[in-house]
Amino acid sequence: MLEMFLTPKSVAVIGAAREPGKLGYGVITNILNCGYTGKVYPVNPKADEILGLPCYHSVVDIPGEVDLAVIVIPNKFVPQTMEECGKKGVKGAVIITAGFREAGPDGIKLERQVMDLARQYGVRVVGPNCLGVISTYTPLNASFAAGMPPKGAIAFMSQSGALCTAILDWALAKEIGFSHFVSLGNKADVNEIDLLQGWEDDEHSRVVIVYMEGIGDGPKLMEVARRVSQKKPIIAVKSGNTAAGSRAVSSHTGSLAGSEKAYEAAFNQAGILRASSIEQLFDYSLAFAYQPALKGNNIAIVTNAGGPGIMATDALETGGMKLATLQPETVEFLRQGLPAAANIYNPVDVIGDALADRYTHALKGVLDDKNVDGVIVILTPQVYTQIEATAEVVARLAAEHDKPVLGCFMGELKVAPGIKILNQHNIPNYSFPERAVGAMRAMYQYCKRLQRPAPQYERFEADQERVRQVFERVRSEGRLSLGDAESREVMEAYGMHIPRSVLAKTVDEAVAAADDIGYPVVMKIASPDILHKSDIGGVKVNVRDAEQVRDLFDLLIYRGRRYMENAQIWGVQVQEMVPKGKECIIGMNRDPQFGPLLMFGLGGIYVEVLKDVTFRVAPVSHQEATEMIDEIRSYHLLRGVRGEKPSDLKAIAEYIQRVSQLVTDLPEIVEMDINPLMVNEAGKGVVAVDFRFVLSQQSIK
Ligand code: ADP
Ligand code: MG
Repeated sequence: MLEMFLTPKSVAVIGAAREPGKLGYGVITNILNCGYTGKVYPVNPKADEILGLPCYHSVVDIPGEVDLAVIVIPNKFVPQTMEECGKKGVKGAVIITAGFREAGPDGIKLERQVMDLARQYGVRVVGPNCLGVISTYTPLNASFAAGMPPKGAIAFMSQSGALCTAILDWALAKEIGFSHFVSLGNKADVNEIDLLQGWEDDEHSRVVIVYMEGIGDGPKLMEVARRVSQKKPIIAVKSGNTAAGSRAVSSHTGSLAGSEKAYEAAFNQAGILRASSIEQLFDYSLAFAYQPALKGNNIAIVTNAGGPGIMATDALETGGMKLATLQPETVEFLRQGLPAAANIYNPVDVIGDALADRYTHALKGVLDDKNVDGVIVILTPQVYTQIEATAEVVARLAAEHDKPVLGCFMGELKVAPGIKILNQHNIPNYSFPERAVGAMRAMYQYCKRLQRPAPQYERFEADQERVRQVFERVRSEGRLSLGDAESREVMEAYGMHIPRSVLAKTVDEAVAAADDIGYPVVMKIASPDILHKSDIGGVKVNVRDAEQVRDLFDLLIYRGRRYMENAQIWGVQVQEMVPKGKECIIGMNRDPQFGPLLMFGLGGIYVEVLKDVTFRVAPVSHQEATEMIDEIRSYHLLRGVRGEKPSDLKAIAEYIQRVSQLVTDLPEIVEMDINPLMVNEAGKGVVAVDFRFVLSQQSIK
């Protein structure tokens, strides 16, 4: 669907120039020099011939069809040119010209004008304000980049054009190949989602990599990435922070969430691997582009140096990977071929004086071992080390096995010829063990992604209509924040267990409620203005008798008033005291990019301090809910430590999904928290003790 950009049969260069130094010259020479076999039409009102080709004064004068127009003219002429492209029936336009949205209000207007015309005529647009598009297999270099990368398996897209030029230059030096190289610029039309779809079934692209600063349609990106990542890895660097909106947060979840958490959660759910730097982006992509897929978590290390071997081992273990346990036959095989001082267990240390033959023996041993899924070969240049011969061996043995082998030839000057040989044989080399392990770990994440079962979304019986009515009532009173009775109705409508609770406006009402509920009870100040009641001493647990109820009623009201003179105070809530359990939190904050961001974690009054929480974009599947529980640091507390019984993890997972359903069914909830969710031991369920809901400004039907 983007073939007009990637494999056009004819290209017009609007603004083609004869004078070196002009962008229009750079673009046309790139197209002419890259081996492009389609038709090329220079367009320039002031020339009749450019670089030996007939030059047209307008795109409409071109005799044949035009698939792609590359536009390199001053910004103010672009609208008219777009109109002409439209009339000509041009299918796609790469607008290299800058001075649009990125340049302020006038530019925004100009961009809108251009895009209105493009849409009117059905012209797809890459850019404006971009470096252009390169497709190595076509081949086509419709950019003003200095050079054309070799063919390769990496499809690259970037929001930053300047970054593209730097990466191209670096890739040329390292002989890194690309299938496509697209600079997206302002993304007025074609964006990451389009290219992901365009590359989904592209046979040349084994891995898709993305540099992005922000995205438009988060849910759509997730939907497409979920699908594409089943077929090939997607790796992204996301930089910059998107405005999280100016809404004041009024929940624990709101204060702990944020766009960074949303990206992290969404990428993870959609199967997009996240790199934290450009360096990592390429570290990972080279492994995916050149090596067979990793099929498990058991890694072998072969090294001629103890220290780096240990560093690699540490990095593996902290990264959640395993050092493979070699089979006894392998250990025996290694014992026979290696000197007595060598370490024949993983990490296999062939020691400092190893020549290529020892590497051959060790590598053969571990690669043949069915307990080994992938291998990292570390080499430090010592006096006798046969750097090139060892590289040859690594290349040969790697080619004979269907397992990823990553190089870690450490150093610079001496190892350079070895690294060159590795690269020629598609073995990526990493200058340090941590980087090699990082790449292996990315492969493992992708392996897990492929093994992840299709998500299953459970639906619980719920009374949506009742919740809508509650919301209407709240809005009709000019509020966005739900009161206690209203929140309770919502919780009940979604089948969540809550303690008995009565709002008492007077001391006598409080005593009557406590008598009715049965002692001990819990008393809490009830006020829409008091967010965290314990902070002001507004919660009393274990209230034993009527006399205490009387004393505390006045005290709680007094504390409420002292906290905020004109606080609206509804009274005191008298509540059934639920048995002590583990306190968790489930909440949601609506993210401007991705929508409902669910949070689960260790709850209670210290959530903001401990920050032991994790996020997912709703709806969450059963498996994702379970993963959330597994992910928090306090997971072991929930599992039960020191003879404690395990907590009811099943009930937690169920409540996460119930909340997920609630916030998906009712998009007008912008924020909510259940804190604490009191979790009892396995089989005894959970109780939602304290909760709050905030609605959107506008009601959403
Ligand atoms: P806030 O979060 O506004 O401070 P909570 O209602 O969450 O107020 O109460 C604070 C703490 O008091 C809870 O984390 C919990 O430990 C305890 N608590 C509150 N209500 C109950 C209850 N009904 N039963 C048992 N403990 C409770
Ligand atoms: Mg609370």
